[in-house]
Amino acid sequence: MIDGEDGMRFAVGALLFEGNTFSPVIATRADFASKYLFADAQVLDRLRGTGTEIGGAIDEAEVAGDVLLPLIATHGGAGGRVEARTSAEFVDALVTRIAALPPVDGIYLALHGAFVSEDSLDVDGEILARVRALRPDTPIAVSCDLHAHVTDRMLDNCDILTGYRHYPHDDTHETGRRALAMLRDMAGGRLKPVMLRCRLPLIVPAQKQRTRGDGPMAEIRALAQSLITGPVRDIAHFCVQPWIDAPGLGFTTVVTAHADEAAAADAARRVAEAMWERRHRFLVETLPPARAIAAGLETGGLVILADAADCVGGGASGDSAAALAALLAHAPESPAAIHIADATAATAALSAGPGAQIRLGLGNRRDPSYGPPLEVEARVLRAAPDSFVYAGGLMRGVRAQTGPSAVLTVGAVEILVTSNACYEYADEAFVAAGIDPRSKAFVVVKNPMNYQQAYAGAAAMTILDTPGPTTPNLAALPFRAVGRPLFPLDPNTPRSLAFRTRTRAWTT
Ligand SMILES: [Zn+2]
Repeated sequence: MIDGEDGMRFAVGALLFEGNTFSPVIATRADFASKYLFADAQVLDRLRGTGTEIGGAIDEAEVAGDVLLPLIATHGGAGGRVEARTSAEFVDALVTRIAALPPVDGIYLALHGAFVSEDSLDVDGEILARVRALRPDTPIAVSCDLHAHVTDRMLDNCDILTGYRHYPHDDTHETGRRALAMLRDMAGGRLKPVMLRCRLPLIVPAQKQRTRGDGPMAEIRALAQSLITGPVRDIAHFCVQPWIDAPGLGFTTVVTAHADEAAAADAARRVAEAMWERRHRFLVETLPPARAIAAGLETGGLVILADAADCVGGGASGDSAAALAALLAHAPESPAAIHIADATAATAALSAGPGAQIRLGLGNRRDPSYGPPLEVEARVLRAAPDSFVYAGGLMRGVRAQTGPSAVLTVGAVEILVTSNACYEYADEAFVAAGIDPRSKAFVVVKNPMNYQQAYAGAAAMTILDTPGPTTPNLAALPFRAVGRPLFPLDPNTPRSLAFRTRTRAWTT
């Protein structure tokens, strides 16, 4: 607990996971524990000073002299679905603590907004409905990832819903501060929030969602920022996690205004219309790996090959060997680096020891949908550390557990083989393993966005046409449950703006 003199009392907790219904990866308790998993006093002790939302809420509370009552805080990264019993354990742990709270001025929960379990497509909505049932009159603020799928149940069971404004996500800390500040304003009567949600029949791949620079999403961000004035306190634009086959999926704007529904509606409409006008600019070109490598050999310098279809941060397994197979087939003597999550191969390499020449299968084990492990003759270079610390982004300061790990070489290709798959922010995993990616001709990255910042200055960056559950080619995925028509699955989808309002009966 943080003690203040005149401060208010807020309960704070975090339960984050980004699901992907096209991925077979089932996330377990260990996947949460390998990022962060804290309860009660540990939440504040361990997350103080980090870039997490709770780290931001702690800083905000200390400035204002608020008292924080910690619940639980955990992040499971991304995956397919969360194991049902793990999901139930965490939701119960959060809800039972809220049931046991003394009276509080508000509750702040950091959720992802795309938490999918084995038995639910809307765990975030279930959490908020249970919390609301326990505390019908207590202000509830929620912050979500920019890729949240904000369901009706989520919106209906909170008072303030904000989100990360940046992609790459480097503003989790300030999002936590903002959520707590708005909650304090509501508890103090200075904010009577009216939330207006506007949804478009539109999903977009992640590659063009960069909120800095001059791309289409940077324009949306700038527009939203310009509209935060007067009664409009906050505008959250949710690109949504496009790999969830769930009803109602679509680009969503949530505007929070002070007792002014018309102002909220106007701002939400303007952001939605601007997004719709730009929808074609979000589509991306991909290249078959063989062509991308041939072009890279011509270019020279550092060439980034983005295997975005195998993005751990989007729910894929991080164990695809498709890009490695292409490198070994087309440029085996070009210095290259790639990361593959494969516990079986890591164990085999470590037991063979440095210097050993071994034949082994690599990758395609956690997600066997796209072929068998790639058979290679590899040399074990060295063991790699079993963890690294994120240098930035939403996990800044958090230690990722890669588990038993090794560096192998095949030809001139250095392969980081880790037991656990890890969200990729920049180059932390390579660097911790002693691999210098900037000295290579090719670096395979497995994310759709962060590499554009991490490797700014590279000679070329190409998005590979590879298979996987986080492919930017959304029309290639077997969507069934989403509402149709939906752009770009249905290229001629007509524009429609679906509004929903969340407000309380304010007495002024
Ligand atoms: Zn996100």
